[in-house]
Amino acid sequence: MSSQSSFGSLDPRLQNDLTDVEMDTLAVRAGHMRTPEAEHAEAIFPTSSFVFSSAQEAATRFASAEGNIYSRFTNPTVRAFEQRIAALEGAERAVATASGMAAIMSLTCGMLEQGDHIVCSRSVFGSTISFFDKYLAKFGITTTYVDPKDFAAWKEAVTPTTRLFFIETPSNPLAEIVDVPALADIAHAAGVKLVVDNCFLTPALQQPLAMGADIIIHSATKYLDGQGRCIGGVVVGNHDDMEKVFAFLRTAGPSMSPFNAWVFLKGLETLKLRMEAQSAAALELATWLEAHPKVSRVYYSGLESHPQHALARKQQKAFGGVLAFEVQGGQAQAWKVIDSTRLISITGNLGDTRTTITHPATTTHGKMSAEARAQAGIADSLIRISVGLEALDDIKRDINRGLELI
Ligand SMILES: *Cc1c(COP(=O)(O)O)cnc(C)c1O
Repeated sequence: MSSQSSFGSLDPRLQNDLTDVEMDTLAVRAGHMRTPEAEHAEAIFPTSSFVFSSAQEAATRFASAEGNIYSRFTNPTVRAFEQRIAALEGAERAVATASGMAAIMSLTCGMLEQGDHIVCSRSVFGSTISFFDKYLAKFGITTTYVDPKDFAAWKEAVTPTTRLFFIETPSNPLAEIVDVPALADIAHAAGVKLVVDNCFLTPALQQPLAMGADIIIHSATKYLDGQGRCIGGVVVGNHDDMEKVFAFLRTAGPSMSPFNAWVFLKGLETLKLRMEAQSAAALELATWLEAHPKVSRVYYSGLESHPQHALARKQQKAFGGVLAFEVQGGQAQAWKVIDSTRLISITGNLGDTRTTITHPATTTHGKMSAEARAQAGIADSLIRISVGLEALDDIKRDINRGLELI
């Protein structure tokens, strides 16, 4: 990892030497370039712009676009976050954005041209579909949606103008798993890049680039922060692709704030511990729910009953903190369970240390027609849970209170 600092001279011993260190060390130390103050933790740089020692230096800096100029382009705290997430994903470069959706916008607007085509899993985040269909389509970029597990459908959807395949694995909320190496092969045979939204597992549990994917996007809002404090996002990939994404970002401006970058740096330090603990708790909760008489079905790739459990085991280190289940009955029974909780937060957000509960059919997937929902497998009796770090017995008791009433 480069230890080039933009802060002038500092004893090299005071910079982190990250040669040949492991991922756990990168999560805590990558990206931090100490200033001459030799601060221990990362500093926040709440500054809109940076000053130059002369007109000549300003001209040189603007011409090269390297180094600090203006915080819409880059900022030392934001850069530290970018370097840390790139290190964790095993990528050449990361570009931080104001939100997960800003990451998807910067990726597509930076890399695609009018007339280009995307093939997208039909099981992706709702705003991703809205952005592709309502906004990219206005500018002549079209999207075809396919069943993510149906490789024949991916192949058939490719046209001469297809540039990107876009997936989430596991999907939300039904935990469908996409075989990343197999889909990467199909993409590359067609001259297409594979983009993975790695929000649900994070690099702590799944590294798509090492499996053949070309680009990763994250909503940092979820597990990278992990504590429900900030909105942010990031795009990760090779230098050439990220230069295109960055060129869009620095012009259009959906940049990450330095304060948020600092919060995300703190979040990354505990990412692995949280992901492991939340995955273990989710597996235990899923197993308990599967045996519950009021529960008709559980969706979690860690369960042996999951149809793609073997694939999940192969490409993931664990199964993540999000699960979904159907209760006996319909919407009324699902709402009863949700409304009977006293501890769990009723919210659409996920990836927090606090357990959250949501009814997808009337919230995250509420804009879909009943028919489209049925086709996507989102039942009215479905409940999604993002397991936090509370004592699991307290969470089980909170869910059981409503289950006993239906
Ligand atoms: C939340 C989410 C996004 C969007 O991220 P924001 O930070 O809310 O803009 C994208 N993809 C997935 C899978 C998400 O859960």
